Amino acid sequence: MKQRLTVLGSTGSIGTSTLDVVRRHPASYEVFALSAATQVDVMLAQCAEFKPRYAVMASAAHAKALADKLQSNGLVTQVLQAQDALEKIASHPEVDAVMGAIVGAAGLSPCLAAAKAGKRLLLANKEALVVGGALFMETVHAHGCTLLPIDSEHSAIFQCLPEDRSTWRARIDSLLLTASGGPFRQRDPATLAEITPAQACKHPNFSMGRKISVDSATMMNKALEVIEARWLFDVEPDQIKVVIHPQQIVHSMVQFKDASILAQLGTPDMRVPIACGLAWPERIESGVAPLDFAALAGLTFEEADAQRFPGLHLSWQALKAPEGTTAVLNAANEVAVAAFLSGQLRFDRIHAVNLETLSAVTPPQPRNVGDLLALNDEARSIATEVLERFVA
Ligand code: NAD
Ligand code: MG
Repeated sequence: MKQRLTVLGSTGSIGTSTLDVVRRHPASYEVFALSAATQVDVMLAQCAEFKPRYAVMASAAHAKALADKLQSNGLVTQVLQAQDALEKIASHPEVDAVMGAIVGAAGLSPCLAAAKAGKRLLLANKEALVVGGALFMETVHAHGCTLLPIDSEHSAIFQCLPEDRSTWRARIDSLLLTASGGPFRQRDPATLAEITPAQACKHPNFSMGRKISVDSATMMNKALEVIEARWLFDVEPDQIKVVIHPQQIVHSMVQFKDASILAQLGTPDMRVPIACGLAWPERIESGVAPLDFAALAGLTFEEADAQRFPGLHLSWQALKAPEGTTAVLNAANEVAVAAFLSGQLRFDRIHAVNLETLSAVTPPQPRNVGDLLALNDEARSIATEVLERFVA
């Protein structure tokens, strides 16, 4: 039986890599629905190739533009744009699996809708889990959702762990998240103020979306991943450690109680964790060349420099603070990164905006998704006020 798939954020870096794996297995996967924010022409080409029943665009104008182009190309994909259209394609009864590859907190509601509908949820959208926290995991467990991590570090950890989750807590000593250190690992910290968006988006090993590229450069990406790991694997914050590994060959490791460590290795290419999530627990061809050990110059590991990457430690701090604090951190960081990318905010001030927003917001205990979305909105508006003080 073919798996019917919804890809949320199909025009992005993870979305296109997902469709590349799907394209290799026409007998196993069928695309039911796709979604994108504004990229009409990429979506048109995806509709022509994968013939989904639905395509969702983020605004009425983009939906209309896509619908017109589909019609003039004789394609029958229906275009949706209503407020709840993403939830609809994520929870539709005919869908088996959902790839969550929207960037930012915008992905929270559709990922939760997939979880509530008990889907197989392939989660790349780490911000959804950082914002959703305990409530997200409760929804996953209450509705029989199969949650499969796509972030390469979390996929690595997942692959190192036994399939029976109930054994994890007793066996895990710690999780070792590897980090590339991004493009500025060796740059003089005194020059961080001059970094331009183009420099920050040039990652040494991966081509990724612009937001995650900036997060990799500040190491806020790793901070978000520490929070993501806490929820995915139900460990205490202090059981999560970060190790810099610039070659990105070891994707992460699990240290067990007896000090034995298992690692997952491979060519750094997101199609590996995507193929792993699509087929789990089976394995399918991903299109990625295996590692050539003879060609590897060496694997190195080092500690993260707290002065260069002050944001990294905010994750442990936020996890130990009242619930909801991780949502505030995420909202502040989304606002700060957007301001940096639009040329308003200096690179080295992203951290200051995050820090000040954290101290300005005391989150009330979130009881449901409505509370989380309200908290996200409130933290974004406070971050926007904080930002005013730091813009050049
Ligand atoms: P991207 O910017 O390349 O793509 C984002 C996708 O989401 C696009 O299809 C875009 O149209 C859509 N989108 C953006 N804003 C939206 C909104 N408000 N409403 C609806 N759709 C919207 O990003 P990416 O690099 O593919 O990353 C996607 C997610 O996966 C992020 O959460 C990122 O942290 C995570 N991730 C990415 C990588 C990677 O290698 N790129 C690795 C690990 C995790
Ligand atoms: Mg990652």
